[in-house]
Amino acid sequence: MGQAVVIPRAHHPISRDDISDNALKVLYRLNKAGYDAYLVGGCVRDLMLGLRPKDFDVVTNATPEQIKGLFRNCRLIGRRFRLAHVVFGREIIEVATFRGHHSDSDNNDKAKHASKQSDHGQLLRDNVFGSIEEDAERRDFTLNAMYYNIADYSVHDFANGMQAIQSRKIEMIGDPEVRYREDPVRMLRAVRFAAKLDMQIAQASANPIPALASLLANIPPARLFEEVLKLFLSGQGLATFKLLQEFNLFGQLFPQTAPLLKNPDSRETRFIEQVLINTDNRINSGLKVTPAFFYAALLWYPIEQRCQQLMNEGGFNAHDAFNLACNDVLDRQLQRIMIPKRFSIPMRDIWMLQSRLNKRFGRRAYQMLEHPKFRAAYDFLLLRGDIEGGELHELAEWWTEFQQADDNGRKKLLSDLQGGSQARRTNKRRRYNTKKKA
Ligand code: ATP
Ligand code: MG
Repeated sequence: MGQAVVIPRAHHPISRDDISDNALKVLYRLNKAGYDAYLVGGCVRDLMLGLRPKDFDVVTNATPEQIKGLFRNCRLIGRRFRLAHVVFGREIIEVATFRGHHSDSDNNDKAKHASKQSDHGQLLRDNVFGSIEEDAERRDFTLNAMYYNIADYSVHDFANGMQAIQSRKIEMIGDPEVRYREDPVRMLRAVRFAAKLDMQIAQASANPIPALASLLANIPPARLFEEVLKLFLSGQGLATFKLLQEFNLFGQLFPQTAPLLKNPDSRETRFIEQVLINTDNRINSGLKVTPAFFYAALLWYPIEQRCQQLMNEGGFNAHDAFNLACNDVLDRQLQRIMIPKRFSIPMRDIWMLQSRLNKRFGRRAYQMLEHPKFRAAYDFLLLRGDIEGGELHELAEWWTEFQQADDNGRKKLLSDLQGGSQARRTNKRRRYNTKKKA
């Protein structure tokens, strides 16, 4: 890679007004102490694009210990990557030391200890420090390898990132296949940036992905949980989902759901797309979303399918089959993605409440309104009703009315229901009788 193209302050749009004060503090302090200090990665990319960065990452030639020496509010973290976190209340500025290479010819014991590679070419440990040029080569995409220098406010562009931004291309630095093998999560990142920035993955960077997608099986489920949140809760969840499917990646993350989504017009596909549309809308209007709802939705139809199977083949009754199906499907999903208990518990509530919402007798209906997960379960039912129509839609409408009604209205809704179910029962009997006669 070698020399960077240096873009002086006058020729790029990044202003210090758009940089977090805390990040500036860290950069200036490092620089005053005689170290090089740069902003790097997503924040430089986003500022170049006129977007508001999520966070500000700093790199320097100071070692983690030297960084710690400069900041009282600093802690060192990470094994795979050793980093410094400088903590300012709720904002954390991540400060990393330039990373270097570790080639096989490296017979240096220190380097061997500092880095580690698996049989699949995956990097397991990565703590060799290096120069800024080496650091740039180790980054993923060309538009993520731009460095904003606090010493003179210039931007150092090591991999033609500016050109990639202009041509709206996500382009891997180096040999894409080697880089995906080193860290298969880069395939998910390619898709995430393409969707989020509305750009194309460059042909050479896109080509190897479908064939290498299965390497995601080697990523620890806890890391995948974090990545999946970023994929789906970025405000471009639907676009991301479509790209994941196109690149054969979705099935690696959700092996039980993917087979149900082969038909783009099926209720399964429409349901998930609708969930993602709603999620995107909420995020883009500043509302909160919970991963529990989203995961509950992604696993709903696999549960329904498993439940049917347990009833047909295992001879279980509907209630037991449903409980077992929830356990089975969740257990299998957890082998891929480690969903923390604080989300899997509400997911289960949402699922369980789906059948309880069907049982609307007097006191139970009132109790249901008090359930802490009623709102989520009702939203879930509403969505299922929209997609499937029929009785499910009527059930959802009934709950809408029941919530909005006053005391008398609620009583009436419940008694109508009793009348209704009685009428249905007599109807059934009548039909039965006619059949018998015929
Ligand atoms: P976001 O807007 O989602 O934060 P980002 O590009 O800042 O996007 P981060 O995960 O914060 O993503 O990473 C910061 C930078 O670190 C990236 O821009 C990239 O240069 C580098 N990087 C992150 N993950 C990898 C990876 N898996 N392989 C190589 N470089 C990476
Ligand atoms: Mg970032």
